[in-house]
Amino acid sequence: MPFSQFAAKLAERQQAGLLRSRRQIDSPQGAHIQIAGRQLINFCSNDYLGLANHPAVVQAAQQGAAEWGVGSGAAHLLAGHFGPHQALEDRLAAFVGMPAALGFSTGYMANLAVITALMGRGDAVFADKLNHASLNDAVALSRADFKRYPHQDLAALERLLAASTAPRKLIVADAVFSMDGDIAPVAALLALAEQYDAWLFLDDAHGFGVLGEGRGTLAEFGVVSPRIIYMATLGKAAGVSGAFVAGEQVLCDWLLNTAHSYVYTTAMPPLLSCAMQASLDLIEAEPWRRQRLAEHIAALRAGLQDCCELLDSNTAIQLVLLPDNETAIRIAKALFDHGIWAGAIRPPTVPTPRLRITLSAAHSSDDIAALISKLKALMAKP
Ligand code: PMP
Repeated sequence: MPFSQFAAKLAERQQAGLLRSRRQIDSPQGAHIQIAGRQLINFCSNDYLGLANHPAVVQAAQQGAAEWGVGSGAAHLLAGHFGPHQALEDRLAAFVGMPAALGFSTGYMANLAVITALMGRGDAVFADKLNHASLNDAVALSRADFKRYPHQDLAALERLLAASTAPRKLIVADAVFSMDGDIAPVAALLALAEQYDAWLFLDDAHGFGVLGEGRGTLAEFGVVSPRIIYMATLGKAAGVSGAFVAGEQVLCDWLLNTAHSYVYTTAMPPLLSCAMQASLDLIEAEPWRRQRLAEHIAALRAGLQDCCELLDSNTAIQLVLLPDNETAIRIAKALFDHGIWAGAIRPPTVPTPRLRITLSAAHSSDDIAALISKLKALMAKP
């Protein structure tokens, strides 16, 4: 069977301006990066606190490699679970205020683990329509009924819950939505979970490290419950890689015993757990990073409010709505030509075209000012 059928499909995407491609970066992650010999201000990364290339984190990784080697060599349940893995799990559980935590190599795998291990045929998953793709994929893999509600529409969620006779119910939401930047009403979601005897699964990929003094979105709102399953990734604000699920001890034991994306995969290199310890030290000891990020968010919103239509977001993920795909591509390209990198995000990834700007504590006030002035100029002349 020839692969040319895909060549034709790719050509179609190219014609529609929807072909995905990568840009090769020739410097470490940071506010300023190098691409094809040019310096750019980077508004595309999730390194919200500027820790991905922090010397203390890098040094911890180097020491971890010297002490523990490079590869873990096996899955956790075989010979792959090392001291640094365990120490990190214990510390993460305490940090987010949950009884237990279980480490994963990626957030994608953690999401697959939770939903497939808890849910099966005849169960029902209630999901926000703008949830991350990994959560949607997990539901499909679990074979549970997939009930999606319009973004942040709790009345619609409640109608779905009230109508359900499924033996097990799971409400799933991004805690901070990756393409809209808004925060889920976690206390209200928990109240619905209690009322309808459901579990609540929150994906805090974009809140951990930033909200709740670094402890995440649940800590931000003081929400605690044994029916909550919490997932956060370690490759965004934490600057390293991997993820963890936190919740009741029995939940973590169940995942460890049954979740395929935990059982049948090589453990994360222990050196990354060492790096994560150093990252957590900084997350705890340096609140100025969150403070500076908050200042950048406020400055950007104030600077753009007169010339751009902004989505209502107070997080590091800021969106400028644009009338059509062509404008989104044109603005992103013009910014790029001026040394500023921000992503044009278009349907079907999002409902409407937009420029996605992610801010970091690593940015300077001058970086933010440069973005505002270039964007202002571009929005003024069509
Ligand atoms: N959930 C959300 C909301 C995300 O944005 C991401 C990363 N794009 C993930 C999960 C997946 O995490 P990871 O990159 O660690 O696989």
